[in-house]
Amino acid sequence: MELKYYMPTRIVAGPDCVKKGGALLRGLGERALVMCGPNSARRNGALADVEEALSSHDIGFEVFDSVESNPRVAGCRRAAEEARRSGAAFIVAIGGGSPMDAAKVAALLARNELADSEVFGGEYPGGAMPVVAIPTTAGTGSEVTQYAILTNDAAESKTSVSCDGIFPALAFLDAKYTATLSPRTAASTAMDALSHAVEGYLSRRSDPWSRAVAREALRLFGSALPRLASGSRSGKELDEALRWDLLLASNMAGVVIAQSGTTVVHAMGYCLTYFKDIEHGRANGLLLGPYLEFIAESEPEAVGEVLSALGWKDVAAFGAVLDSLVGEREELGADELDKFSAKAAKAKHLVHTARIPVEADIRRMFREGLRVAGGKGK
Ligand code: NAP
Ligand code: ZN
Repeated sequence: MELKYYMPTRIVAGPDCVKKGGALLRGLGERALVMCGPNSARRNGALADVEEALSSHDIGFEVFDSVESNPRVAGCRRAAEEARRSGAAFIVAIGGGSPMDAAKVAALLARNELADSEVFGGEYPGGAMPVVAIPTTAGTGSEVTQYAILTNDAAESKTSVSCDGIFPALAFLDAKYTATLSPRTAASTAMDALSHAVEGYLSRRSDPWSRAVAREALRLFGSALPRLASGSRSGKELDEALRWDLLLASNMAGVVIAQSGTTVVHAMGYCLTYFKDIEHGRANGLLLGPYLEFIAESEPEAVGEVLSALGWKDVAAFGAVLDSLVGEREELGADELDKFSAKAAKAKHLVHTARIPVEADIRRMFREGLRVAGGKGK
């Protein structure tokens, strides 16, 4: 067994932790660039809290509020230029995975002259500006990972930038920010986090530490996800205790993938996001049930451990919860099925999957997870 557990991010969680955490921000420098998407950070109050924390500790700042979903290098470059121009010493990212990932790449570009093709290369001699991450979705866990996933048109996919220098220095978790999530985004991002915990637990790169964290994340999901599904159906705002469970579980699942990486579900999901514009979490959610069935055929004990941590009876019960979160499944054309299966079969993530799939296995999982012209045959 090999073990290289590394988790350098300071995690601070609790009601109003951002407003109370100004002193920690001051320790990072006298000027910041705040990065967020165009709407949600204002609506959920996170931007106002950050502005108050920065101002009350005499930290100057500029706001870059045009991070797109599924960001590209070009947007990160614009933010890096803004960081340099304004003399920022660190970046505060507010939002889902998109602003957090864009901030990590901007933090690298602010310290390194890199051509677009070099951004994914893994060589960043100048290091990165420190990043503070404030998740407002309960999904990606990017606040505690060394990854930034960008849309990469040259590869017609999503590609990860990975280096220890972009682990956020500090993560603030406050579930008050997730109150404004739409039922669709709450479900989609929760399925991403579940996918991290399940794929991470079953990854060949998992270790005793990451599995321990994954088990606790799965325990939280086991009760939170059925509540999320019924809460979303009721149309009422999700209660605060449930939102805390989901935020903590997604954070723990982020700690898990920081050690174990992701596997076949993410490799397949990237095709659905790149070519069909299906949200990242939903893409994983569509595929998770078929994936667990596939793994269970050769690794029934490990899958049994996942189910027992969740407190769900069997693979069918797992599928039923996912069905209730996913709703109606998107359709795949026959050409899309061919193209996506061939592409996902070449992904480097596959080698860490508990049972390494060949292209025919991937086709089967796509067929079972989506509605494919020509029915659900294998
Ligand atoms: P996202 O793309 O960051 O955000 C999706 C949508 O949700 C946006 O329209 C955003 O609005 C909105 N939103 C965010 N917080 C909200 C809130 N509290 N209330 C209402 N709306 C809110 O979604 P995500 O699923 O969190 O992140 C997906 C990205 O993360 C993908 O690029 C994926 O590849 C990446 N990812 C990264 C890692 C990692 O370890 N780095 C892991 C998994 C996934 P605004 O645009 O206005 O903010
Ligand atoms: Zn993910």
